[in-house]
Amino acid sequence: MEYSGDKFDVIVVGAGIMGSCTAYQIAKRGLKVLLLEQFDFLHHRGSSHGESRTIRLTYPEDYYSDMVIESSRLWEEAESEIGYQVYFKTPHFDMGLPENKSLRSVIASCQLNSIPHRILDHQQVSEQFAGRFKLPENWVGLYTELGGVIKPTKAVSMFQTLAFQRGAVLRDNKEVKEIKRDEEKAGIWVCTSNGERFWGRKCVVTAGAWMQKLLKTVSGLVLPIQPLHTTVCYWKINEGYEAEFLIDSGFPTFASYSEPYIYGTPSLEFPGLIKIGVHGGYPCDPDRRTWVPTLLGNPVTQWIEERFSGRIDSGGPVTTESCMYSMTPDGDYVIDFLGREFGKDVVIAGGFSGHGFKMGPVVGRIVADLVLNGETIGVELKHFRLGRFEEDPKGTVKEFEDQVSCHLHNQ
Ligand SMILES: Cc1cc2nc3c(=O)[nH]c(=O)nc-3n(C[C@H](O)[C@H](O)[C@H](O)COP(=O)(O)OP(=O)(O)OC[C@H]3O[C@@H](n4cnc5c(N)ncnc54)[C@H](O)[C@@H]3O)c2cc1C
Repeated sequence: MEYSGDKFDVIVVGAGIMGSCTAYQIAKRGLKVLLLEQFDFLHHRGSSHGESRTIRLTYPEDYYSDMVIESSRLWEEAESEIGYQVYFKTPHFDMGLPENKSLRSVIASCQLNSIPHRILDHQQVSEQFAGRFKLPENWVGLYTELGGVIKPTKAVSMFQTLAFQRGAVLRDNKEVKEIKRDEEKAGIWVCTSNGERFWGRKCVVTAGAWMQKLLKTVSGLVLPIQPLHTTVCYWKINEGYEAEFLIDSGFPTFASYSEPYIYGTPSLEFPGLIKIGVHGGYPCDPDRRTWVPTLLGNPVTQWIEERFSGRIDSGGPVTTESCMYSMTPDGDYVIDFLGREFGKDVVIAGGFSGHGFKMGPVVGRIVADLVLNGETIGVELKHFRLGRFEEDPKGTVKEFEDQVSCHLHNQ
């Protein structure tokens, strides 16, 4: 096996948003970092590609909101460093029945975290959004200021560029097959399928939907991270209404705590189209996907028809894009040391369960802290520990279920 020569402080495996943010954070601290990616950089076969991801402060779990606030600040910091925009701000709007457990937890979390918010009845919602959202009389809306859209491919490219500018070495088409501890030299060997070997003092694994496969091969650990194939759907806005769904017209990012959980972003990437999707997907092998779109049945078309009073053509999405979730049983992330023979020298960050993109910058900061200092400040990591699955295979037990449990669709 060929040794590539260079030695690194940290080798990061996987160049989605998490790996790219981590590489940037490490390079920013003046250390030598190598970022390895199995496919082309900015490929469309993982989770961090495409045109839009929501950022929102409202979470049923109260421990995510502070992370979003820090991430939002770090998104802006990175934008000012690179000189272009990837994060487009707009308010965020949640809706559902007042007795819905997730929505109740979201409101409780706003109160606990002193997040400015307004609870609106169906009439106030209609006034707030000038008739663009129509809620059933027994539903409530939750209006918060911190929302927005992040452009994923552009954002990953931004962090890779920033990392490169600070001296990071970036290599794509390098599939990592082995991660081994070198007892003698006190470090880690990372070996690729084309026979190259790289040496690092430490290693980070941010392999997205391949996390389970890779960690099983390198350490025997079987993580409960299930890849799901999911579909991003764009719907046509009926003629004459296009301007109403733009950020400039105050249209928000939104989530409906109904069955199924439906989310969407303002019209931004494709003129005259709006993204409306369903949280979840069907289990898949990331290397053997069928690429068949997740079928969106009657509940979604009916929801679109009723919520937007016929302003959106609910006949079916006009274009779709495939993507993958990496679901944990409790919907919480996994950010921890790999342990075993690797001790604190290998950090893993995965299982972002369909809600990780917004957190990329803060996760990068946390992972860099863990791998370089052995600890992080300002974030409670107990919800993200690997050990929670040993105590209970389902992880952290939550009162609400509709958002957390991945909706496993039938193909
Ligand atoms: C349809 C959809 C909508 C979403 N909406 C939102 C949203 O609105 N808001 C939000 O915050 N989040 C959202 N998410 C979730 C978010 O996109 C993901 O949580 C995030 O992109 C995960 O990033 P990652 O870096 O962990 O994984 P990935 O982007 O998949 O990156 C992992 C990388 O590791 C590489 N890799 C794997 N194995 C190896 C190996 N052996 N060697 C080398 N490289 C390897 C892969 O090729 C890949 O490039 C959404 C996801 C989807 C699919």
